[in-house]
Amino acid sequence: MTNNIELIFEKGFSEFPCNFVPSMDIPETQIDQILPKEFIREKINIPDTPEFVIVRHFMNLSEKNHSLDRSIYPLGSCTMKYNPRINEVLCRLPGFTQIHPLQDENEGSLELIHELGMQLCEICGMDAFTLIPSAGAQGELAGILIMKKYFENQGIKKDKIIVPDSAHGTNPASSAMAGFSIIELKSDENGEIPLDQLEFAMQEGDVAGLMLTNPNTLGIFDRNITKITEIVHKYGGLCYYDGANLNPIMGMTRPGDMGFDIIHVNLHKTFSTPHGGGGPGAGPVGVKKHLISHLPCPQIIKEEEQFVCIDEHENSIGRIRSFWGNFGVLVRAYSYIKALGADGLKRAANMSVLNANYIRSQLQPEYDIPYNSQGRFNMHEFVVDAHLPNDVTAEDVAKSLLDRNLYAPTIYFPLIIHQAMMIEPTETESKRELDRFIQAMKDIYQQAREDPSIIKTAPHKTPVGRLDNTLAARKPILRE
Ligand SMILES: *Cc1c(COP(=O)(O)O)cnc(C)c1O
Repeated sequence: MTNNIELIFEKGFSEFPCNFVPSMDIPETQIDQILPKEFIREKINIPDTPEFVIVRHFMNLSEKNHSLDRSIYPLGSCTMKYNPRINEVLCRLPGFTQIHPLQDENEGSLELIHELGMQLCEICGMDAFTLIPSAGAQGELAGILIMKKYFENQGIKKDKIIVPDSAHGTNPASSAMAGFSIIELKSDENGEIPLDQLEFAMQEGDVAGLMLTNPNTLGIFDRNITKITEIVHKYGGLCYYDGANLNPIMGMTRPGDMGFDIIHVNLHKTFSTPHGGGGPGAGPVGVKKHLISHLPCPQIIKEEEQFVCIDEHENSIGRIRSFWGNFGVLVRAYSYIKALGADGLKRAANMSVLNANYIRSQLQPEYDIPYNSQGRFNMHEFVVDAHLPNDVTAEDVAKSLLDRNLYAPTIYFPLIIHQAMMIEPTETESKRELDRFIQAMKDIYQQAREDPSIIKTAPHKTPVGRLDNTLAARKPILRE
């Protein structure tokens, strides 16, 4: 099923002449007298469309797209929280946008970067941060390269990294990109790391350390976290904390205090910045003292009330991208942290956990929630195994949510749950909106029992119907 979307080129040319611009009252200059012929475009194919037509055109297009400005966006592992508009205003201040990193007068920008780094140190319990990486995955790569450099510097050969099967998919990918081979660790029935197997894997000797997503992709905080870091350290390894999902723990507990040596956080998830559609982002990396010299360049430090940018450093892993990162994202994070303050961050964390557990408790009668044997609380998200009556699948449920004007949670991730549906409501949703989502999930369950055909062919109300997932991903047709 396709609702045709009319292109701007099809909206009719010159139906209404667009004569806003007054006629010339100075002599015309022939363009070919000032420009060489090869630079003159013969014909530009721009529709001659009046203002109101074009405004309506883009308004209609935007309404076909779901966004957080319309309703809940419970995309697990993505923290699609509402972003306060004030942060958008602040990052657009001319003092931030009309400046170039190579200019001399950028003290203010350096100060902001330095101060944000200090705030993240306090929140995460680390000793120094680089804010340069442009995404979580790039932060991971930088962090793993720091790990590699640390051992290389000491002349120790270690080429393996332990990654649990509940990790985010980027963890094994980043480790592999940095040249490590991966030892996968299977989670136990509680979704946690089996300590004996961790110890067994560390004993191999050539293991550089552990990369841990915590809370993991099941939304579970590992209760043995300090024992885990103890074991890894006992065998000379380093501990990497994937803190992309810092949302539920910020202000509550600190990875540095749990014994982690390296961490990355995703500013575009936890600390404001709209990040639908893939960017821009920032994945700052924090380290403990013994790893500071390996941070990427440039590093910004404070020397006698001056902010100094160090371009080269002997032990650094080097440059990982141009200049200082996605600066606008840093400004948003800075103002977000300043606006909320310590108490506000704590409250946001607690509300994100409360909201997730509220939905979980309401869905439990209909939906299977694995790794929940002890009825523990989840953190900011949880995963249901959405196998419904009459073979209705997670994908069917997701598509049916679209018909109900809601965005679908992440599906088929993590891989360890067959019909995984990963629900992360975030702290910014009201109880009313959570209830609307819960009701929709319950309605879908009922429909699956009584009349599954509607669900199995959903969505019915979106611009395009059910797509062939493989074809749509491999051979997208992006134009008419
Ligand atoms: C989102 C996420 C990442 C990757 O972050 P990007 O900015 O998308 O590269 C890594 N780990 C976890 C746990 C995440 O949720």
